[in-house]
Amino acid sequence: MRRPCLRAATATLATTCGDCLARPSACRANIPHNRSRRALRLDHPIPTLTSAARAATTLTSIHAFSFPTSISFGPGARRSIAPYLREQRVARPLVVTDRGLAALPVFAGFLRELGELQAGVFSGIEGNPTRSQAMEGASAFRTHRADAVIGVGGGAALDVAKAVALMAVHEGDILEYAWDHPAVRPITAPLPCLVAVPTTSGTGSEVGRSAVISDDVTHVKKIIFSPMLLAKAVFADPELTIDLPPAVTAATGMDALTHNVESYLSPAYHPICDGIALEGARIAARALPAAVRNGHDLAARSDMMMASMMGAIAFQKDLGAVHSCAHALSTVAGLHHGLANGIMIDHVMRFNLDAAAAKLAELARIVNAPGGAQGSDPARAQAFIDWLVALKRDIGVPGRLAQAGGAHCVSRADVPRLVEIATADICHRTNPRPCTADDFRRLFEAAL
Ligand SMILES: [Zn+2]
Repeated sequence: MRRPCLRAATATLATTCGDCLARPSACRANIPHNRSRRALRLDHPIPTLTSAARAATTLTSIHAFSFPTSISFGPGARRSIAPYLREQRVARPLVVTDRGLAALPVFAGFLRELGELQAGVFSGIEGNPTRSQAMEGASAFRTHRADAVIGVGGGAALDVAKAVALMAVHEGDILEYAWDHPAVRPITAPLPCLVAVPTTSGTGSEVGRSAVISDDVTHVKKIIFSPMLLAKAVFADPELTIDLPPAVTAATGMDALTHNVESYLSPAYHPICDGIALEGARIAARALPAAVRNGHDLAARSDMMMASMMGAIAFQKDLGAVHSCAHALSTVAGLHHGLANGIMIDHVMRFNLDAAAAKLAELARIVNAPGGAQGSDPARAQAFIDWLVALKRDIGVPGRLAQAGGAHCVSRADVPRLVEIATADICHRTNPRPCTADDFRRLFEAAL
């Protein structure tokens, strides 16, 4: 069972995909136990630690680690959902999914496999998760007289499923539970049984403890964070991903790879997450090109689903400047989160090279980059960046923002707004190299 951080519940803020709340750093900042998340954000810029400072805090601080999610993993794992729910005395689950998935035969098959359970369906999710979707889903929960929530889909569906479970037993508006709401409501009541079933391999939202919900009008993303949002069980079935098109596989896969890379590079003290991140990066490096080439390669699909969960588990440590760029690109240009990470990652790694040469060199060895096994740290770090560029070319991820194309084409005129949002984003505060507004401007311009 997850417990709050020893220092402060506010300090257990995890980062899920699209989230931007760092946690162990907050412990290091000696935030008093009773400080609110709002105070944490407003008063305590999260520092980037030097190695010496990190070593010092390792010896003087108590750290809290927990990895509580129960995961059933493997081809066919979805067939264990109905027996599991019966065991939990669930009779009337509400299945929360997106409109696109609900129309596919695979979803009809999924419902059939729920057997005698009286499942209702809420499929009003399209695009980014929004406040209205969450509130409508909660209404569907009550109408169905549901006793559990099954989130099925990518990050959006899983985030809305968490929000539905929350609003099924809480008053008010979902955005009033966002951590930075001026009068944030507490999450007090036990949530109904929440089961997560990912159908993409990228966000890892199934193992995350937060939901990112946008305001329908302003499109501003708000984060609802609580360990109570963790799924009670995850059923990770790679068979559910075999029909994803190559472009989606590539973009979501780059998100998973970025989670592993950025969490490893973050200077926070979390050797457990570091180990998971390195292995997650190794698995993703091997499997992503294979999964893009042949979606029906079940071994590659399994590996990517695992790497995705490992990335999301690892980044409860922290993320970095790639994600700050991606959050800005999604807000300004509607760019797919994984694609945005994929476009920006090598640009940000070049920026990080001097500050994180040893870790980037280790990543070069882990991913089996040409030239990554021997030589100086800077040379091997460069080999990792070269490997990223080659990987992107191999799986069809554009090298530059201008190549993202269509309605999402980013131009020089967008840069000031991108810089503003990326600078305000909290993820980069745990980047291995401090990233100023001028740095972000250079990064976006380099990526145009
Ligand atoms: Zn992400």
